[in-house]
Amino acid sequence: NTPLHELDPAVAAALDAELERQQTTLEMIASENFAPVAVMEAQGSVATNKYAEGYPGRRYYGGCEHVDVAEQIAIDRVKELFGAEYANVQPHSGASANQAALFALAQPGDTILGLDLAHGGHLTHGMRLNFSGKQFKVVPYHVDSATGLVDMAEVEKLAKEHRPKVIIAGWSAYPRQLDFAEFRRIADAVEAYLWVDMAHFAGLVAAGLHPNPVEYADVVTSTTHKTLGGPRGGIILAKKDFAKKLNSSVFPGFQGGPLEHVIAAKAVSFKVAASEEFKERQRRTVEGARILADRLTAADAREAGVNVLSGGTDVHLILVDLRESELDGQQAEDRLHEVGITVNRNAVPNDPRPPMVTSGLRIGTPALATRGFTAEDFTEVADVIAETLKAPSPFGAADADALKARVKSLADKHPLYPGLNK
Ligand code: PLP
Repeated sequence: NTPLHELDPAVAAALDAELERQQTTLEMIASENFAPVAVMEAQGSVATNKYAEGYPGRRYYGGCEHVDVAEQIAIDRVKELFGAEYANVQPHSGASANQAALFALAQPGDTILGLDLAHGGHLTHGMRLNFSGKQFKVVPYHVDSATGLVDMAEVEKLAKEHRPKVIIAGWSAYPRQLDFAEFRRIADAVEAYLWVDMAHFAGLVAAGLHPNPVEYADVVTSTTHKTLGGPRGGIILAKKDFAKKLNSSVFPGFQGGPLEHVIAAKAVSFKVAASEEFKERQRRTVEGARILADRLTAADAREAGVNVLSGGTDVHLILVDLRESELDGQQAEDRLHEVGITVNRNAVPNDPRPPMVTSGLRIGTPALATRGFTAEDFTEVADVIAETLKAPSPFGAADADALKARVKSLADKHPLYPGLNK
């Protein structure tokens, strides 16, 4: 029972430093969040020791009576949360959920239609080097370059031309809501399955702030750690006709023993996600993103070459367009890092700069909303970001210091994980 700090000071020091980084900087990576302490407690529990291949009540190992309870709670809660007929809570990650879902719906060599990675899609939606791109015939659809919105006329045209087995609706970098009803209509017209990957916006759906894809899709996948605010992991929801296929695709298709400690943590996070406090947090998340979009489309930002794709946002993130700026995505990411704000650079559609540099930033508000940021705080964050991106080069230490002090006072105002420091 030697504590971590004694047993392994090197790893303990790295984790302490990570806690401090999360506490003292502003986390604005759109796919990140802060899990509640109770979720981390479940994730750090003795359930990590248990083998439980199979499903609750039908395991290939003895001694599963208690993890069965926790896994069944997770299944029941997530079905209730999203109004789903079927749920599988075992996928180790979003990518694992997507792999299991895709192989349940299609065979290698079949055609799939997904949003192009460079236009906001995810690796698992058909990227060349991913299993999805290697084993399936991929037809990518795109956003319209004038509006920044998914081009549904193109989706329909490509669907009719290529008759895909699966149409994928979902994204990693897109600031608007998709038209699920229209996707369903197109899928029905070509007899394709509709799979929605709601990894990014699942928390908004749970809070009733975003249309629920479960009402339209055959299969819905998600991560549990983005807007949903739980432990790192994946889930699959579906109509019950797909239950058998999906269960066997996850296990034994792609996975062995489920991570029962993570599943227990998922169960806790689904309880949180059904609460009023969670809804209120998701409202601040969306409000914060709108405040950022307004600030970064203001006249002074645009004069400095800073703009926002699609002109705004309906969700928890914005995509900053730096095509007209002297700063590229890498430089902008580095500058914000220097003042204590963590974001990631992101290609914009038809990006003139190379993929490692890019002409955009993806900025999200879930983690700060979880920290308690209000509209007033988000307004100050938006000002700091705008001033950082507008400042002429070279961006010296003196420029950074003043902005850094403002970031520090915001971080101090909303302490994160008080009591966890050793
Ligand atoms: N699906 C979407 C839309 C995502 O944005 C991501 C992660 O960024 C994933 C799936 C994959 O999730 P994970 O990183 O847990 O494999």
